[in-house]
Formats: sequence, C-alpha cells, structure tokens
Amino acid sequence: MINSGLYVHIPFCGTICHYCDFVKVIYQKKWIKPYLKELKRDLSFFNVEKDLNTIYIGGGTPSSLHYYDLRQLFELLKPYAMKVKEYTIEANIESLTLKKLELMRSYGINRLSVGIQTTSDAMLEKLNRRHTYKMIKEKMRLIKKAGFTNFSVDLIYGLPGQTLADLKIDLANILKLNAPYISTYSLTIEEGTIASINKWKAATDEEMRAMYDLILETLREKGYIRYEVSNFAWPGYESMHNKLYWENKTYFGIGLGASGYINGKRYLIEGGLTRYVKGESIISVDEITPEQYIEEYLMLHLRLAQGFLLSDFKKKVGFSFLEKYKEQIKTLVESGLLVVTRERVFATDEGIMLLDHVVLTLIM
Ligand code: SF4
Repeated sequence: MINSGLYVHIPFCGTICHYCDFVKVIYQKKWIKPYLKELKRDLSFFNVEKDLNTIYIGGGTPSSLHYYDLRQLFELLKPYAMKVKEYTIEANIESLTLKKLELMRSYGINRLSVGIQTTSDAMLEKLNRRHTYKMIKEKMRLIKKAGFTNFSVDLIYGLPGQTLADLKIDLANILKLNAPYISTYSLTIEEGTIASINKWKAATDEEMRAMYDLILETLREKGYIRYEVSNFAWPGYESMHNKLYWENKTYFGIGLGASGYINGKRYLIEGGLTRYVKGESIISVDEITPEQYIEEYLMLHLRLAQGFLLSDFKKKVGFSFLEKYKEQIKTLVESGLLVVTRERVFATDEGIMLLDHVVLTLIM
C-alpha cells in the first residue's frame, strides 16, 4: 500500500478545556501502561504496515505523558517509523520540556503541532487552558533549541466576546512565533461542554466570516498559503499526513476514538477508556457506497486549494467529471465558485466558503 499513514490517539489531558468535545480523559498514571498495551494490540489487529509515509500522534494531549511513558510509546512505534517522511506529535505548551522535545527528536519526530489557541491570557483562562502568552514564547524558544524547524500552531477564533481588534492582536502575536504552519478553527459550542452549560454565546455567522476573512488576508499577506480551508503553511510545509485525509488515501488509526480508512472502509474505535484498556473496545465499520465515495471525494478534495486532477477523478471514481456534470459545472463556473482547467478542478475563494453548496449542486 503506498502513501499510507498512521494516526495514534492518546486521549489523556492534564486539564479539560471548557469547549472540548474530543475523546479525552484526565491524565492518570494508572491508565498509561494498559493503554500502551492496547495500542500494541491495535497495531497487529489492524495489520498496520511498516512502510508508512506518515505518523501522527494526536489527542488529547500526547505531550502530557511522562518522559518514560513517552519513550515507551515511541519504542512501540519505532518499527513503523523506519521509512516515515513526516512524523508529528501534538503537544501543549505547559507539558513541553526540553528533555521531552529532545526525546521526540531522537525518535525521528520531525514535526510538532502545538496547541496555542489564543495569546490572550484572559481568554486562555476562560477556556481553562493552563498556559500564558509568556509561556508560549518561552516554549517556542525550547522547540527551536531542540532543533524543530517544522511546527504548527493552532489558533481558535470566534471566542466569547472576541472582537476583530482582539483577533488582530492574536494574529500579530502568532506571526511573531515564525511558525511554518498555522491551523485555524472557529469555536463551536458543543452540547455537554462547560461552554454550553455556561451558555457561552457563539459568534454569529457574519462575525465568523469577518474573522475568517481577516485571517485569510493577514496570513496571505505574510506569505502563508491557504492550502486547505482552515490550514495555512509556508510553501513546502503543507502537512503530508493531513493531506492523506483530504485526498481520500489509506490511513490506519489506533487508540480510543481513532478512525482509519482502509480498502474503502472507514472504521472507528469506540466504547470508552475502561472498555478499551480491557481489550473490549467497539469497532464500528462503515462501508462507503459508490454515491458516498463520490460525495466524499468532491467534498474532501475541494477543501484543498489545488482541488483535484481530472485524471485522478476518472481513475478513482470511474467516469469523466466533465461529461457527467457538464451543466452543473457551467452554472458553478459562471457563478464564480469553481474553476476548471485542462487538467484540474478547484474551488475559488468564494467557492471554498460555500463548499456544501458547490458539492450539492454537482451531485444533486
Ligand atoms: S487539550 Fe485538546 S483534547 Fe485536551 S481538553 Fe483541551 S481541547 Fe480537549
């Protein structure tokens, strides 16, 4: 299998952010050993191949593991990391130490994804994050000292009470960090989170759009390429692993809450931590129908600025995009939402903002 990747989910976090609805639990030492044991079982259960292109350790907060547990995790993954080109781990500011960073480097990890979210100390406190802007700057120095040249930072916008002026300050501060990659997220208030219980007011669609436009304009001006709807990178720093998802390629997933996509089937590992560590997790499998495949192909590829190759569409989907959607393409091109060249199809800036509409127009 070529171009495949591995996602490893580490669900432990030192504290729980008020807006979080990911699969996560508060870090407790007692869970780590049985969890790592189950990860090992997952590796053989899913028959994870050894010539992977990418590994991505996400969470949760993988960096919340203690030094020796991290080392055990990296040892476990070592046989799978031999040919890996991009090896990423997610980290948060407060749990990063130079010792851990050097350990990561020694196991070939060459990309860090750092959860910053905002540089406003007051907002960080409101979100229940435990770092400050001062700590961000200090840890960035450590990251560089440890030799990481490829790292990404996360930015959340649409925070409660946040104005465009606040976001401008965040952007200016984040740009000073010189990160080759910036991921942006709009805050969504999910049911069951503290944010929802405390009735945080979400930004309106218009406010979100104005913030997104500000981010797009600012980051483009500074040389970042928006290669995917929410992801910005310096040229050459696009994430290989994330592109596997958007290009509908094979990836394995191990760990509680992880999903994988193999041979046209998507699976999800569910069931809660107690079941997982007992080896009783539930694996739900979703077989993708041809109709779903077409919709997913279009939806995922059109998130990317590069869109897709007409030849790739024909090879994977089995018919000609231009012939099948002739009328719809004409409408979308005339509306300024889609561009079709001799080789490629991609959404315009406005089309990217209206992707659901673009895809539905094509397939309905
Ligand atoms: S660090 Fe990430 S996974 Fe953990 S609680 Fe916060 S948002 Fe959720």
